[in-house]
Amino acid sequence: MNLPPSGNDGARARYLAGTHDMEPVQGTVDVDIPIDIFWECFRRANYWPRWNKCFFWGHNRDLKIGKHLIWAFQPIKPQYLYKMWSIANIVEVEDRKKVTWEVTALPGMYARHTYHVEDLGNGRTRFGSWEQGTGGGFNLIKKFWIIHFTFVKDESLKGAAMLEQHYKATGQLDPAKLPKKSYLLFWIVTIAILLLLAGGIGGAWFYSSFVKLTATQLAPGVNVVTGGGGNSLVVEDGGDALLVDTKFSPGSKSLHHWIDTNVTSPVTKVVNTHYHYDHTQGNSLYPSARKIAHASVPALMRRWDNDWWAGHDSGVPTQLIPDSGADLQVGSKKLSLVHPPPAHTAGDLWVFLPADNIVATGDLVFNSYYPFMDQPEGGTSIPGMILAIRKLTTDYPNARFVPGHGPVASAQNLSRYGDYLQSLYASVIKENAGEEQAAADVNLRPWKLAILPSLHHNTMIWATANNNVRWAYRLAHAAGERTL
Ligand SMILES: [Zn+2]
Repeated sequence: MNLPPSGNDGARARYLAGTHDMEPVQGTVDVDIPIDIFWECFRRANYWPRWNKCFFWGHNRDLKIGKHLIWAFQPIKPQYLYKMWSIANIVEVEDRKKVTWEVTALPGMYARHTYHVEDLGNGRTRFGSWEQGTGGGFNLIKKFWIIHFTFVKDESLKGAAMLEQHYKATGQLDPAKLPKKSYLLFWIVTIAILLLLAGGIGGAWFYSSFVKLTATQLAPGVNVVTGGGGNSLVVEDGGDALLVDTKFSPGSKSLHHWIDTNVTSPVTKVVNTHYHYDHTQGNSLYPSARKIAHASVPALMRRWDNDWWAGHDSGVPTQLIPDSGADLQVGSKKLSLVHPPPAHTAGDLWVFLPADNIVATGDLVFNSYYPFMDQPEGGTSIPGMILAIRKLTTDYPNARFVPGHGPVASAQNLSRYGDYLQSLYASVIKENAGEEQAAADVNLRPWKLAILPSLHHNTMIWATANNNVRWAYRLAHAAGERTL
């Protein structure tokens, strides 16, 4: 690939003269306008769009050597809709003779454009456009550039002819008095496109955050269904099925549909890992299943999300698990429900399947995401979260963990998450100048965690680095919780 030399204008121009990448695109038109009048109109580049249809917008009020020329092109065909913004260096200005600028828009591209005028006498002027490009970046889409240069040349010459008509009709050529261009259509189209894009991005984000489900088989009859709220685990054996966490709408409905299609046994038991409604709102879609949760869950549900549960009474757990935990049976598979001391909430359970060495942790684990931390209302404790994580990795060193959010994790992933919580908590404990200062001081970026959107008490909550510091700060500085 040939590259034009950079920096020195003269070297570039000589280089261009020696290349054979393209024949210059050029043309002239003779107009009945005295050269002084033509030049006075022409030199005001900010008015070019009024008479030269290759331009959408121009910035310069005059042509001055050494200045940048800034403008935007119209597309080569109106239906293409793009506007090509450009910046060039004005390298030659000869009064009533010519202006030349050089464009280095793309790496390895060099284009040189000259508009020139010539006094033909008797009040006539010749106006011309000359343009040539070279370089590897230019050659990459040379076809386009030649069409574009031709478009610029043709519209410029047509524009000069239009100026001639205007001059003949009005006897003057003040560019400020040329008919104004309307930008209304441009803004209508631009805003419509932006709205469509925003809608598309918003829709895609909503779909991937709240609707899209991914099911993965972890063992025969054991599937994890991620996405659409908290992750769910489906265990089917011996004509019986159990579901851990039911997501929230619309993900809960997609999960119900997935179960209808993929699970032949009836779901007779639903276990909730905790009360948060991105894990529990779908409970009432399984009216004949027993709802099982830690003993404190019904009270937390009614206290914090009563609007929902008052109308979905059948979803509130009735088989309540004491702090000491319990065992369950699904076909021939035994499951243990284990309750840690207050951690993500005061009513957490994890579900252990010894036969397959799988643990569904609920929101005790956020894998690869910033965690959501309920404030003291749900009984959240960061030291409790750290203890629970350490116990999970010690008790089940070789297990596969189904986290509350994020992909299936190993004990190693959990250890890193535990380290994250420990480091976050140690940082906020040291802070004594308030939440704002803590948010400014503590840098969590090196942990490279992803942001998680979530609905909590009917409000959209973002688990971000900044929010993690604020939540941890509030929890750490609340009475009674200052040490690890
Ligand atoms: Zn939760």
